[in-house]
Amino acid sequence: MRPVVLCFSGLDPSGGAGLQADIEAIGQAGAHAAIACTAITVQSSQQVMGFEACSADLVEQQAVAVLNDLPVAAIKSGMLGTTDNIAKLVSLFKSGQIDKSLPFVLDPVLVANSGGSLGDETTLVAAFQELLPFATLITPNTHELRALSGEQDLHVAAKKLCHQGIHAVLVKTSHDFDSGDIEQFLYIEGEIVLKSVIQRLQGEFHGSGCSLASFIAGRLAMGDDLITAVSAADDWIIETLKAADKPHPNDKTAQLIPNRFI
Ligand code: PLP
Repeated sequence: MRPVVLCFSGLDPSGGAGLQADIEAIGQAGAHAAIACTAITVQSSQQVMGFEACSADLVEQQAVAVLNDLPVAAIKSGMLGTTDNIAKLVSLFKSGQIDKSLPFVLDPVLVANSGGSLGDETTLVAAFQELLPFATLITPNTHELRALSGEQDLHVAAKKLCHQGIHAVLVKTSHDFDSGDIEQFLYIEGEIVLKSVIQRLQGEFHGSGCSLASFIAGRLAMGDDLITAVSAADDWIIETLKAADKPHPNDKTAQLIPNRFI
């Protein structure tokens, strides 16, 4: 069977972000996505109206069912929604139920691209500090990177997190809408090992962060090293965004949905 990525992520009914983005991106990377659902959100392509988180016990039961059954080759987390869910993932690593040697891509989701809350930011940031050291790679947007590190400068922030024991940080300026072209830096153990400048496309994309992180997790499950996986994901995400669906073609400010079947 294809290698499996076990994803901890929430349901976005619009299908742009969350677990659907994970399933589609991981499939495109050549792997199979299995999901432990952490929350059900109420949202459109444009805004988050609310969410209900799954209990940590329910998340654990889903994860254990997959871990006992399928050849899990990588872990990916997105929206966890509550500090209990973050603590549960920490305990799955600590107890060895999740093998600590598996690649783990952690997308530290705090807010949606549209600005809607996907959890209580202050308590989530505190709880994430325990989970971050288990990650092979974290993929924060600029807001999340600043919140997790307490630093405004993105490079200082990435180096600080590496010095606190995080293996690798992917810095991306895609959510800084006045920053011109998108710059990406992959920091491994405090050093930049990969830099890219990507032309900024018109529009905002709902679920681009989820898609990028999941594609990387899929490639890691397929056996790529981190630098190869991130480079492949950069090439792939540009194509998905160029082919994005436009739910509101006449509204220039509406969010677009990445087309992951390119
Ligand atoms: N996970 C879920 C369930 C979401 O609904 C969202 C955003 O709406 C995200 C993650 C983060 O999305 P993005 O890839 O736009 O950062």
